[in-house]
Amino acid sequence: VAKQAGKNCYHLFDTAKDSAIHSHRKNIDDIYSALALDQFVLHYQPKVNMHSGAVIGVEALIRWQHPVRGLVPPLAFLPVIEEHVVSLELGEWVIDTALTQIKQWRLIGLNLPISVNISAYQLQQTNFTTRLAALLAAHPEVPANFLELEILESSALHDTNQVSETMTACHQLGVSFALDDFGTGYSSLTYLKRLPAHLIKIDQSFVRDMLEDADDLAIVKGVVGLAKAFQRQVIAEGVETPKHGKALLQLGCELAQGYGIARPMPGNEIVQWITTWKTAGSWLE
Ligand code: C2E
Ligand code: MG
Ligand code: MG
Ligand code: MG
Repeated sequence: VAKQAGKNCYHLFDTAKDSAIHSHRKNIDDIYSALALDQFVLHYQPKVNMHSGAVIGVEALIRWQHPVRGLVPPLAFLPVIEEHVVSLELGEWVIDTALTQIKQWRLIGLNLPISVNISAYQLQQTNFTTRLAALLAAHPEVPANFLELEILESSALHDTNQVSETMTACHQLGVSFALDDFGTGYSSLTYLKRLPAHLIKIDQSFVRDMLEDADDLAIVKGVVGLAKAFQRQVIAEGVETPKHGKALLQLGCELAQGYGIARPMPGNEIVQWITTWKTAGSWLE
């Protein structure tokens, strides 16, 4: 009888909602099968010190190597699975793959830390630290301080006390944190004050227009000053030209990442890129 009633209820769904549910379910299933078929890849974007020229690390950025759609960017599939358990599985795949890459680079003498983006949902899982510890334990050759986690300041980080505790616990494992897209959220200053992140990433929207827009320049200046005052490191994202680089150096921001330095690339291209970068002379000239 219950089954009968269930069937009848089903017919009461309006078709638009019904098909939205179905397409959401399909999106989730697609991610599960992409994971099973090993269709995800990480690309890596170098982060450099513009003053010394040193390559200080790379950021891992996920892509979906789709058989029909080609290389699908993260914002085309991550928002769809947000707050679904499959995003946690994918998140673990990213950390595990990054740790494997660190190990492979170290085998050829390249000591390169990787920063991995994690979602607020992921960080707020009660077992986050335990799972991270397990992933690190599965890669005993990788020093934990070669892994950095980037978090967006977002309204999704509701309980800053709990988040701060989790970050401290991860810190004790040796893993550090960066505040990504800094300045675009609603409570940047609260996060800066309350969250133990050693690095602030100035959002690319401010960097992009800083040469033309006095307000954006003021924001970049302000964030660099805040970072200094709070004794955090600061890196500029979205550095597209040497002109941006020079302006940032003048403001006291030495670390940079952006298309002007290098685009994200597959792991096996990083070694060659570093060789070329090192022999190229100063990028700013
Ligand atoms: P993000 O972490 O802020 O990463 C920077 C994004 O800007 C990347 O886009 C990168 O390719 C792009 N970018 C870098 N330099 C420049 C530049 O000079 N100019 C411009 N216009 N863009 C630049 P991408 O790879 O499409 O990633 C977009 C966002 O998706 C990331 O923003 C991050 O929030 C998220 N994401 C990427 N991979 C992951 C992941 O593995 N896990 C999670 N949770 N999120 C991820
Ligand atoms: Mg990031
Ligand atoms: Mg960013
Ligand atoms: Mg972003």
